[in-house]
Amino acid sequence: MRIHRYGPHIFHTQSNAVWEYLCRFTEWRPYTHRVLAEVEGRFVPVPFNLESLSALMPERLARRLETKLLLHLGLGARVPVLRLKEHADADLRFLGDYVYRNLFEGYTLKQWGERPEALDGSVTARVPVVVSRDSRYFPDPYQGLPRDGYTALAARLLSHPNIRLLLKTGAREAMEMVRWKRLIYTGALDEYFDRRLGALPYRSLRFEWRSEQGTEAQPAAQVNYPNSGGATRSTDFGQLTGRSNPFTTVAWEYSKACDPRVDEPYYPVPRDSSRELADAYRQLARQEAPDVIFAGRLADYRYYNMDQAVARALQVYEGLCP
Ligand code: UDP
Repeated sequence: MRIHRYGPHIFHTQSNAVWEYLCRFTEWRPYTHRVLAEVEGRFVPVPFNLESLSALMPERLARRLETKLLLHLGLGARVPVLRLKEHADADLRFLGDYVYRNLFEGYTLKQWGERPEALDGSVTARVPVVVSRDSRYFPDPYQGLPRDGYTALAARLLSHPNIRLLLKTGAREAMEMVRWKRLIYTGALDEYFDRRLGALPYRSLRFEWRSEQGTEAQPAAQVNYPNSGGATRSTDFGQLTGRSNPFTTVAWEYSKACDPRVDEPYYPVPRDSSRELADAYRQLARQEAPDVIFAGRLADYRYYNMDQAVARALQVYEGLCP
């Protein structure tokens, strides 16, 4: 059975160009991601939607809040929880506070070591409150998993006579071994400059893996734990990538601050102070490394989804080979 060593990666995009590009390197296993969160002992859909509302609130209150959501926001609206908390309508503010406390506050503290308001609003806006019964995690028209896995996709991408692959080689070392005029660097932005202006913060992850026997190890491919236990979420890879025997593998995910000497950087930390430091590094890049193009989640220091990382790569290519 296929697992994702670095946590669940579900490919999803709205972009025809990105989808068509990747279709050159893979076929897809059709897959629609659905997530449940454990809230007050129940499993409810995330993003929080009208189903989650009915599951958690007494019936009359749920109906009243649903009417308010439809009236003030409209069917299909997707509103960040931090905005719902500030809504002019008192009932919607109440709902915003409820969703914040039960789904976002604890999860965000575990994931980032920060409260939601301390981070850029775009972080929690990734998972808005949804005014519909659509329980898909991503609304994008294209979603799926590479049929033969991401490793095979990457291997096909790299299989080109002009590409030479050097593994287990640091960026500095490679830059000395190869003659180059333009360089595309996808490592961590601060690492390129030996963290001269200070270390940019990253979050890292630790996984606990367990094999389980039975039909389904948990009620959805991904379960989030906003207010219970130490893990942020667990993923049943059998439900994600498919399985052919009675066993499945579940990964429990724990977040931690990244110590660059020992940990893998997973997430840039979107907040004002780190944006300013990243900007200072970008300024340094313009002065000291004009022939280097910085691109990717770590080198741009941006919380890209996979499709955004691909779009960025295509944009760099267009710039170099118009
Ligand atoms: N989030 C949350 N509760 C949830 C799901 C998400 O508080 O049940 C917040 C949390 O801050 C998280 C962010 O929304 O880091 C983005 O979630 P997403 O699922 O996009 O994170 P990723 O898959 O990139 O780790």
